[in-house]
Amino acid sequence: MLFISSRNKNLKYSLSDCIKLGLAKDGGLFIPEYFPKINLNDFNVKMKIPDFAAMVLNGFFENDILQNKLSEICDQAFSFPIPLNRINESTFILDLCKGPTLSFKDFGARFLAECLSRINNKNKVTIMVATSGDTGSAVASAFYKKENINVIILYPKGKVSKKQEQQLACWDSNILSFAVNGTFDDCQKLVKDAFQDEWWQNEMHISSANSINIGRLLPQIVYYAYSSYQFFSLYNKKPNYIIPTGNLGNATAAFWAREMGFPINEISLSTNENKVICDYLSSGTYLPQKSILTLANAMDVGNPSNFERLSHLFPAYELFKKNIMAISVDNIKISQTIQEVYNKYNYIICPHTATSFYVKNKLNLDPSIVVSTADPCKFDDIIEPIILDKVPISEELKKLLNKKLSFINIEPNLTELKNNINK
Ligand SMILES: *Cc1c(COP(=O)(O)O)cnc(C)c1O
Repeated sequence: MLFISSRNKNLKYSLSDCIKLGLAKDGGLFIPEYFPKINLNDFNVKMKIPDFAAMVLNGFFENDILQNKLSEICDQAFSFPIPLNRINESTFILDLCKGPTLSFKDFGARFLAECLSRINNKNKVTIMVATSGDTGSAVASAFYKKENINVIILYPKGKVSKKQEQQLACWDSNILSFAVNGTFDDCQKLVKDAFQDEWWQNEMHISSANSINIGRLLPQIVYYAYSSYQFFSLYNKKPNYIIPTGNLGNATAAFWAREMGFPINEISLSTNENKVICDYLSSGTYLPQKSILTLANAMDVGNPSNFERLSHLFPAYELFKKNIMAISVDNIKISQTIQEVYNKYNYIICPHTATSFYVKNKLNLDPSIVVSTADPCKFDDIIEPIILDKVPISEELKKLLNKKLSFINIEPNLTELKNNINK
């Protein structure tokens, strides 16, 4: 199996090269040359998640140097449960937040870390990651104490929640956290500048762990494969999915799982007020916007990076429209939905998950699986005033909350960052 650039099918790469490089030479995103078709009879409902994962992903690893390490990678990466909770006869919640940092980003970050640490690096690699919340903590936790890999986290000072900062700045050893005096965009610009800089390239061997890396996307196929297979075996119906969407990575993984032959019916997307994808569906023109701050901050994306992968799958606008439905949900509806779900089902959902729950009620496709992307306890400051009750703090988060904070304050300036690394 080889991978091609979304902009040129003649540019071909091995999987491990894609994981190392992040982005193709022509600026395109890596996509598989074809989707390996699965036979549902090869699986059974009693399989453990890591074994199931290795079977789902094997086709993508064919003939790659990582292929004989795939089961060990899956054992390490898929080390927590994936509950499918029944809310009522037609509504289920897929809980993707049981990993160490309590968001679905743990799947991608942990899988990527396990892959990268097994690709023979002659040089010590520096992973630089700009974060507005969940990505940084998932990446830090996944790469913590991995040999030959250093991680630099850049987050906007004062613009992440208290609990998020605790998760971003509680590390030591090979993880260095910077509170940047600026916005998320300033953090992202530092990363982009570093990628253009000779010192960072040649001395630091800079690499990225952001969501365009295919090593983060492939493992996300697994929970759609696993949950749809389990669901189909139990109810003999193909479930519909509703996915909270920002950079469209999670959504792309769901479409890829369906392409492979897993029993998935409709896939619908929910966005917050950043609704570039909804506008594209209604107008046929893709127009990136500046991002707007919302209650679902991990979805505050004005130019979703995986749009290019989705439009490669559905190249004609009509085809795109036939396959994808998306609805934008504003802050008021997010709050109302959090409250409604709590009152009606005694179930606490995070603001991101609330966008999908709202869309579920709107579309009423039966049966539906609402995808839950973060544990509500990460957003207790938003949720508690809405439900007028305490959000229980998970044991995983408690562990991190007891750690001492350690971060360096910097201005958004590459030289200052460099000077603080050399120390
Ligand atoms: C990252 C994130 C999203 C958006 O996922 P994409 O793959 O970027 O579309 C949604 N919810 C939460 C909690 C996230 O952390």
